[in-house]
Amino acid sequence: MSCPRIEVDLGKIRSNTQTIAGRLGPRGIGVTGVTKGVCGHPAIAQAMLDGGAAGLADARISNVQRLCSAGMTGPITLIRTPMLSQADQVVQSCETSYNTEILVISALAAAAIRNGSVHGIFLMVEMGDLRDGILPENLEDIAQQVMQMSGVALKGIGANFACLNGLAPTALQMAAFCDIANEIERVCGPFLEIVSGGNSANLPWALGEHATGRVNDLRLGEAILLGVEPVSGDRIEGMYTDAFTLVAEVIETGAKPAPSAIALVEPTLARRRIAQASGVSKRFIVAMGHQDTDILGLSMPVGSTLIGATSDHLVIGTPGTQPTLGSEVRFQMNYNALMHAMAAPDIKVELLGSPPTRPSRHTQGKVEHLALV
Ligand SMILES: *Cc1c(COP(=O)(O)O)cnc(C)c1O
Repeated sequence: MSCPRIEVDLGKIRSNTQTIAGRLGPRGIGVTGVTKGVCGHPAIAQAMLDGGAAGLADARISNVQRLCSAGMTGPITLIRTPMLSQADQVVQSCETSYNTEILVISALAAAAIRNGSVHGIFLMVEMGDLRDGILPENLEDIAQQVMQMSGVALKGIGANFACLNGLAPTALQMAAFCDIANEIERVCGPFLEIVSGGNSANLPWALGEHATGRVNDLRLGEAILLGVEPVSGDRIEGMYTDAFTLVAEVIETGAKPAPSAIALVEPTLARRRIAQASGVSKRFIVAMGHQDTDILGLSMPVGSTLIGATSDHLVIGTPGTQPTLGSEVRFQMNYNALMHAMAAPDIKVELLGSPPTRPSRHTQGKVEHLALV
């Protein structure tokens, strides 16, 4: 098998989706599976659908096109506001998109008319993350403009948290968002099919004690793929955190003299290089580097420490037995490392796991009480 490679356990992704969809379902919240972390990999997207995701979403049109050309059938939403230059591609490959600019929405409307279709619009509302979003005070006006435009149909509104500022939504913010949904309907009519509350960072709120109000959708990537809640980094109970494994090959095992005072080019690695001087007796190199993944997002094999990395080499220190030349070393990845590794041209993706099956009604309906551990 070729190295480096990512082994993907599709059964675990299916199971994670099923677990989280099973907990959110009784609260009236559906799951949209977000595939940007895996570059729109069709088999992984299919595992999300098989686990009960109601639809798929991605941030890049190139990933959406990859999903479409693999024959994915479910609705696909573009969750990053479209580039003005890509309006035609967006209406051709996505049923719906998230939007924050009326100029872009007009371009989508014109493109949809050219295409003989109607494109669904979600308006992204700024609720405090300060990334993309329409300010609440401007929302009504924009919603009314969209209502009057042919070629587009207003499908819903969305909020997004913890992406730029790293802060999970509070119950108060979510209640305010639900009020906005009610207010928009009061002004424009009862059309909001989807009120999308946010991403994986919303899970503690969505699975908490209080009512979830108007929210009937969450867009989940990290929670499904890695089984963790992104703000705390904690594992979500009952979810697999090891659906993905990065495997690389050992290319050098020889000893090296302890490092003298070297100029440290990369401050983030300084701490780890110094660690080598104290205690780490043996070292080895694997054929993988910064070009392939976010090295600081890898968890090292048990007992080993990261000594440092360059574009193509990863130097690891170990107090125990060195692995043999040509053997494989396995790493778990955080979301950043996964995202980079999935996009790296030299890393092969190897799919493991049983062929997709529809989860039985029995397992789907079984709901444990929700808790993040
Ligand atoms: C990335 C993204 C998501 C998914 O975020 P996760 O933390 O991976 O669940 C949802 N919505 C938008 C707008 C995004 O950009």
